[in-house]
Amino acid sequence: RAKADGRGTFCFFRDEMAATVEARRTLELDLRKALANEEFELFYQPLINLKSGKITTCEALLRWNHPVRGTVSPIDIIPVAEDMGLIVDLGRWILRRACMECMKWPDGVSVAVNFSPHQFHQRDVLSEIRYALEVSGLPAHRLEIEITESSLLRNTQLTHDILSQLHALGVHISLDDFGTGYSSLSYLHNFPMQKVKIDRSFLEGIDTDRPLTLLRGVARLSADLGMSVVVEGIETNEQLELISADGTVTEGQGYLFSRPVPAVRIRQLLNASHGRRGGNDPMVAASR
Ligand code: C2E
Ligand code: MG
Ligand code: MG
Ligand code: MG
Repeated sequence: RAKADGRGTFCFFRDEMAATVEARRTLELDLRKALANEEFELFYQPLINLKSGKITTCEALLRWNHPVRGTVSPIDIIPVAEDMGLIVDLGRWILRRACMECMKWPDGVSVAVNFSPHQFHQRDVLSEIRYALEVSGLPAHRLEIEITESSLLRNTQLTHDILSQLHALGVHISLDDFGTGYSSLSYLHNFPMQKVKIDRSFLEGIDTDRPLTLLRGVARLSADLGMSVVVEGIETNEQLELISADGTVTEGQGYLFSRPVPAVRIRQLLNASHGRRGGNDPMVAASR
């Protein structure tokens, strides 16, 4: 009996594995076709200057409108695209599209583009970025590249060189999701970066029982090192008040201000934020 059970279990796992492998294969095939079929779209989410209430930057966030699966999250796309090596083509499309879109925005507004570790460490990363700026006509200082700590781990000297060259070009670098990875504080001063985005996990519970100590500490340290400080994932007014209190955090991003929205909608938000009637109201769109 025991033996039969064991075999049954084995068969079950084998079938499960086959199903997983098959699902993955289908996903990869679909992904390969998606670029050509123009199924990708960029949504944009604003970053708000907490003093002026104005939009400073809009972050490009990938969406996949799959004909059958519906909208697929970037969390399910990017790792697979990395494994397949598709990230280079996909990343090129994202970067160029985002730069072209930014050209339609008011002068003072920048675009932030996420770079995965593979994409950041591709051989031609500098010429890719230079070329995207050239074809779009976007001034370098209006482009922010968001990288995560995992991009800093690999080949430290080379990474430092790339960052220095981007810096020389005038492109800004943000350290995304800070606090979720290795969180080596030495990264903050060892690499030339202009912005730190403190991960939204730091906000969990701060409006109820969790002290602000950690978030404040990271924010102050980053500010003392001359970097702008962004807090991601602000969802409530209470959170906004708490993080704004001591003036260290320069920008905020989160559903409280706006969810990521399609290109057409972000243009409307930018007109409202920067237009004649442009208010100082950071609640540009509590479009929940
Ligand atoms: P990220 O770069 O940290 O982007 C922020 C994510 O948090 C976005 O999820 C955004 O929708 C979500 N978010 C923003 N405000 C709030 C909030 O107030 N509450 C909550 N719960 N979530 C909030 P999204 O669009 O699903 O993207 C997930 C991740 O996928 C991104 O995290 C980024 O790492 C990656 N990603 C997205 N687009 C791209 C891309 O074009 N290229 C690369 N390489 N990665 C991308
Ligand atoms: Mg990001
Ligand atoms: Mg982030
Ligand atoms: Mg994050």
